[in-house]
Amino acid sequence: MNLCHAEKGWNDLWSAYLATIPPRRVKTPAQLVTNGYRPKIHVGASKATTSLITQIRTEKIGLNAFLADRRVPNKTPECSCGRPRQTAKHILYYCSEYADRREELFKAAGTKDYSKMLATARGAKAAAKWLQQTGLLPQFSLGLNEFPEPQTVATTRNSPPQAGTVRNRAE
Ligand SMILES: [Zn+2]
Repeated sequence: MNLCHAEKGWNDLWSAYLATIPPRRVKTPAQLVTNGYRPKIHVGASKATTSLITQIRTEKIGLNAFLADRRVPNKTPECSCGRPRQTAKHILYYCSEYADRREELFKAAGTKDYSKMLATARGAKAAAKWLQQTGLLPQFSLGLNEFPEPQTVATTRNSPPQAGTVRNRAE
C-alpha cells in the first residue's frame, strides 16, 4: 500500500510545519493528530497499550521533557544521556543509552522510519512495548493516563486563551 505522491507531499509539509512549533507551545487537537494517523493502528492493542501509543504520539508522556513542561516538582527536561529534552521520540529514536536495543525495536516495528512506526499498528505497538521495557514510565505501569496540571495554572486559568493556542482539555 503506497501513499500517493500528493498525500505524501502533504504529510511531509505537515510534519515540517509541526516541527516548527516550539515544544512548549500547546498544539491544537488537530495538530496532535500527527500525519499518517489511522484509528486502525489501535486495533488489537490493549487499552493500556492504546493509551501509551497515544502518549507517544502526542508526547504527553511521563518522560522528563513533558513532566518538566508541566512543572512537576523535581523534574528537569534533560535525558540521562545528557541531551536537553527527554521525549518519547528521543528515547525511541535517538537516545544513546538505548542504542544497543534500537535494532530490536526497528525489527519489531518493521520500519526504521519514526513517523511510519507510529502510523502502523505493528509499529506503534512495538514502540509502546519497547518504551515500557525501558522502565522509564513507572506512572504508566500504574495505569495513570493523566498528568498533573502545571502548578502555575491557577494564575492563568481565568485569562483568555492566547491567540494561536488552544487550552488543554480533559479528554
Ligand atoms: Zn537520552
